[in-house]
Amino acid sequence: MKEQSALDTALEQLRIAAEKLNLDPGIHEMLKHPKRSLIVSISIKMDNGEISTFTGCRVQHNDARGPFKGGIRYHPNVTLDEVTALAMWMTWKCAVVDIPYGGAKGGVCCNPKKMNLNEIERLTRRYTSLILDVIGPYRDVPAPDVYTYAQTMAWIMDTYSQFKGYSVSECVTGKPISIGGSEGRAEATSLGVVVCAREAAKVRDLKFNGATVAVQGYGNVGWNAAKIAYDMGCKVVAVSDSVGGIYCQKGLNPYDVYEHKSKTGSVVNYKGCKNIKNEELLETKCDILIPAALENQITKANADKIKAKIVVEGANGPTTPEADKILDEKGIMLAPDILANSGGVTASYYEWVQNLTREHWTLEEVNQKLENKMVKAFSDVYNIMRKEESDMRTAALMLGVGRVAEAIKTLGLWP
Ligand code: NAD
Repeated sequence: MKEQSALDTALEQLRIAAEKLNLDPGIHEMLKHPKRSLIVSISIKMDNGEISTFTGCRVQHNDARGPFKGGIRYHPNVTLDEVTALAMWMTWKCAVVDIPYGGAKGGVCCNPKKMNLNEIERLTRRYTSLILDVIGPYRDVPAPDVYTYAQTMAWIMDTYSQFKGYSVSECVTGKPISIGGSEGRAEATSLGVVVCAREAAKVRDLKFNGATVAVQGYGNVGWNAAKIAYDMGCKVVAVSDSVGGIYCQKGLNPYDVYEHKSKTGSVVNYKGCKNIKNEELLETKCDILIPAALENQITKANADKIKAKIVVEGANGPTTPEADKILDEKGIMLAPDILANSGGVTASYYEWVQNLTREHWTLEEVNQKLENKMVKAFSDVYNIMRKEESDMRTAALMLGVGRVAEAIKTLGLWP
């Protein structure tokens, strides 16, 4: 049987929202397809002198509400379909949190774990040069995603600026602070995730202080979410990465686990914890589960075994539509990706605004604005959910797709 792809999931979600919104069939059809998909071949010289060629793309889904916006992913499983789904989710996400951006995503099919920094820098610069014509501060603003970091964004900014002949910090977000990055950007996605978890706990009458938390993935989003949840008084009982997971009933210290991973390359074999398989992490007994790795993790095969009371999607697309139904039937509240992880793009927007106005806000300013945005978006989605008697994902999609459709109608179609 064909495995459900991220694009299948994204299109099914769009279909559900279109039906609930009674969307014009023409606009529904329009939104099924990205406005532009650019595929590029990136040839670089490896350190051993050989030439390697990688396939990359930049998919721009919709820009009715503002410039395209979305991360760039380096991963061996990157496909055009996956990047298209991620671009579509960016469109809804920016609309849900109500920031003036459309949606895009980029990807390069490569294994950064098998490349050194010099090779990754050459790959990044060459990729940037190949998508240069379709990106820019008012056109399409990239950001980090899986296996790309602040340093990767610095190389993108430098390459773009070299071509333009002047420094253009606002062409990319998620940059290091020394070159125009925003305070709080690195942790923003996770802060938003944890704020959503707190808001979900409130409406579920679950005590947030002391709530048990399991986190899948210990990269940028996962580790920061574990850390912030711990700092806010939660008990982090399990975490995992691509190698495996660890479980500790009495709770673990995410900072120590991070140090352990930095030294050994993985969270596994951390002292005082039991090693567990990746599948077991998702099925851990806990109050709040945060998937923060990749797509298609909670499926019809394991949804029935999820024991958490609340699922907060740090990752994009970790739950399939079939699994959504099962979780809903089990009474599990799910804060969907397009709401829960929108803190990242929101802080990216704040970074862009600071770059355009040549300002630098304090961490307190950024975090306060971010928290207010997340609380408002959560309550907007929650109110739709109550009114429509739907689940949170359907409510978030109705809000996001509805706002994009409204913008398309208002702009009209040229010519
Ligand atoms: P990252 O590369 O920093 O981390 C990814 C983590 O997932 C790594 O720890 C990796 O070991 C782990 N992983 C990979 N496969 C796994 C598996 N099968 N089981 C458990 N762990 C696994 O990436 P990131 O930036 O943290 O992104 C994670 C997710 O969050 C992605 O879905 C991304 O699209 C989404 N996201 C990221 C941001 C952001 O600001 N970085 C914003 C919104 C959404």
